Amino acid sequence: MTPFNRPVLLSTLALVLVLLGAGLMGRGCRTSQPATDNHADATRLAPTVILISLDGFRPDYVDRYETPVLRRLAAEGVRAEGLVPNFPSKTFPNHYTVVTGLYTENHGIVANNMYDPEFDASFSMGNRAAVRDGRWWGGEPIWVTLEQQGQKSAPFFWPGSEAEIKGIRPSYWLPFDNSMSAGARIDLVMEWLALPAAERPTFITLYFSNVDSQGHNHGPDSDEAAQAVRTVDGYLGSLVERLEAGGLYDQINLIIVADHGMAPASSERVVFLDDYIDLDDVRIVDYDPVAMIRPKAGKLETVYEALKQAPHVSVYKKEEIPAELHFQAHRRIPSLIGIADEGWRLSTRPFFNRNPSRFDGGAHGYDPRLPSMHALFIAHGPAFAEGKTVGPFSNIHLYNLMTTILGVEPAPNDGDLETVRHLLRP
Ligand SMILES: [Zn+2]
Repeated sequence: MTPFNRPVLLSTLALVLVLLGAGLMGRGCRTSQPATDNHADATRLAPTVILISLDGFRPDYVDRYETPVLRRLAAEGVRAEGLVPNFPSKTFPNHYTVVTGLYTENHGIVANNMYDPEFDASFSMGNRAAVRDGRWWGGEPIWVTLEQQGQKSAPFFWPGSEAEIKGIRPSYWLPFDNSMSAGARIDLVMEWLALPAAERPTFITLYFSNVDSQGHNHGPDSDEAAQAVRTVDGYLGSLVERLEAGGLYDQINLIIVADHGMAPASSERVVFLDDYIDLDDVRIVDYDPVAMIRPKAGKLETVYEALKQAPHVSVYKKEEIPAELHFQAHRRIPSLIGIADEGWRLSTRPFFNRNPSRFDGGAHGYDPRLPSMHALFIAHGPAFAEGKTVGPFSNIHLYNLMTTILGVEPAPNDGDLETVRHLLRP
């Protein structure tokens, strides 16, 4: 990845436009120059959190693969044996749980692909208009909490950050562009931290997808996954270096999480739904490895009974979904779901036959209680305990953890600060 390729220039342009929209140009913003890390107000820095998502990063990667930076942060800070995602263990639902403290059934991002019967509209991660439409995003993300209580936030490339939620937008955000280099992303973080105190965000996010991509393509045990882990550890290394150079390393709270884990998958372990049901009887909103099924009128019982014959998939009517999954309340959860067993995939014969190899490698979305679905949690900074390892905990508690660190009143949520208080410095 070169630091100044064309997409980065375009991204920088986009940033300039966003900042122009925020009325910031001419007030000390330095987007047209390389970032410098001098920090005029370093001694007076308000409590600040950088929330970093390493998509699909399993906690055991830290020990299995080469991660000098993560190991250092864990040794000097606090590490969990696992961060337990919510159901389904997918990207959008869990990123949004982390910033709202809500179960997926309560914030409404119940899958990466959804249908809302009230809106009569569909949502997918790549649908720009839907992603930016605030009506999909329930609850209150932490950046809304912060902006309402007088703090600035910069949740860039975080699910929900492109939408106006409860009538509020974060002070700084960018349209998602995964071609933006890691260096350019870190430059942005440093530029935000260097803003005058009145403009400086106290909450910033960073997002890297490399580990998830290679986990999907080649599986969690592959050399490619190991290489991606080394790569993102290097990104964190350059962030840490920049923070140290600016005198900020010990003042900033770094919270490094993943949204979910990754299980080995194989094109030999696929359940073909069309072997059991007539696809004309249903609309399947999301497929794999959790099938979100909307049977057509009068077809629920037929489809349900037929799918129950399929091996390696647990089929539930909405009202039968196990309470531990916290996945019933929302209208976007369809009347029938099928959850594949760990390492199994769900598809149809025509879709599979177009590209069988896409089913090799790795997958996630399974029951969050499976250790393979657990995610990374490492935190470092003035708010956190030093040299401590704690047991696994649910990602619903992170919202309360962050509002406590940042000194704002949390919105009602499903988390409990007491569950994670031991992460904090006494
Ligand atoms: Zn993900």
